[in-house]
Amino acid sequence: MPRPIEALIHPCALEHNLRIMRRHAGDARLWAVVKADAYGHGIERVYAGLQGADGLALLDLEEAERVRALGWRGPVLLLEGCFEPRDLELCSRLNLWHAVHCNEQIDWLATHKTNVPHQVFLKMNSGMNRLGFAAPAFRTAWSRLNALPQVDDIGLMTHFSDADALRLGQDGIAQQLAIFAQITADLPGHRSLANSAAILRHATRALSNVADDGVGERLSVAADWVRAGVALYGGSPDYPEHSLTHWDIQPAMTLRSRLVATQQLKTGDTVGYGSQYTAQAEMRIGIVACGYADGYPRHAAGSNDHGTPVLVDGVRTRLVGRVSMDMLAVDLEPVRAAGRNTEIGADVTLWGHGPHQSQLSIDEVAHAAGTIGYELMCALSRRVPVRIDG
Ligand SMILES: *Cc1c(COP(=O)(O)O)cnc(C)c1O
Repeated sequence: MPRPIEALIHPCALEHNLRIMRRHAGDARLWAVVKADAYGHGIERVYAGLQGADGLALLDLEEAERVRALGWRGPVLLLEGCFEPRDLELCSRLNLWHAVHCNEQIDWLATHKTNVPHQVFLKMNSGMNRLGFAAPAFRTAWSRLNALPQVDDIGLMTHFSDADALRLGQDGIAQQLAIFAQITADLPGHRSLANSAAILRHATRALSNVADDGVGERLSVAADWVRAGVALYGGSPDYPEHSLTHWDIQPAMTLRSRLVATQQLKTGDTVGYGSQYTAQAEMRIGIVACGYADGYPRHAAGSNDHGTPVLVDGVRTRLVGRVSMDMLAVDLEPVRAAGRNTEIGADVTLWGHGPHQSQLSIDEVAHAAGTIGYELMCALSRRVPVRIDG
């Protein structure tokens, strides 16, 4: 028998989460962000669940080829644009839309030979200071692009640094929103601003702006296109302020395994490397076939003061001791108290959906490990077999 660990991908959860994000985004079209191999879920595995999106957004040209190979004919957006001039050939061939965030990318376009002009999104640096043109370079870049025969429509995009929280103690997006609105006020083109956090928290806020042709249409933060990532996969972008349940979002990935051993501890016995956990009384612990080589975070808390939640046969318990490469230990006392299975072979849910309608959000596990759900999803290890649920 193979080692009992596996990951499950839930297409129904992806569909559900897509519906929820659409509800928040109003009339805006929705890019399902499938970068980083669909946040670790696998592009091919999420494709069925996310087919209802209006477009797929990603970074890697190899991933763009994969979504075309799956038969996706809709828009594909390269969120960081091209990395070198010859990437434009693939953009032309696969009809990829691409972000333009620096002058070099405009230079490359200017010398690119193509019969079909490209749809681009000009990226504004409104304060994140990662990619994009700040004012006034943004207007100059727009004029340069607008003069190129290689360019068809020019969309306008920016990215918020603090859509999930306050920014320096103030409203998280107000300043960037104002900058974007001001610089783009009289420019035509589709707007795209919102990631998951902005969609869930700010989508209906007014972007006081004048849209196409100065018609005076009032846009919201959802604007013309939203870019939904982590929430589609069942991560709350602003945990711990709001949980999955608050947003009515479901885990799209379950990581589960089984007990492969149990130990009876006496008072004073310690568990695992570094003896981080000391039994305060007699207790039973279970050893789970899951470790950091599977992508479970090694920094997940397992001391006497701080534990990380784990489900055993659907009962919530906690990690005890340090996570090792292939194993971790859990407290079986709450499971025994609930009258559920504490024997070798018992079902263990590291995150996602468990038996008896139980659920454990990846955000909670991440939080107890000093990280975010995004990182854990993306870090699922290659050695973990992945199945599609249903
Ligand atoms: C990754 C990414 C997103 C999606 O962000 P989430 O927080 O996962 O929703 C949106 N826009 C850009 C530019 C990105 O790189």
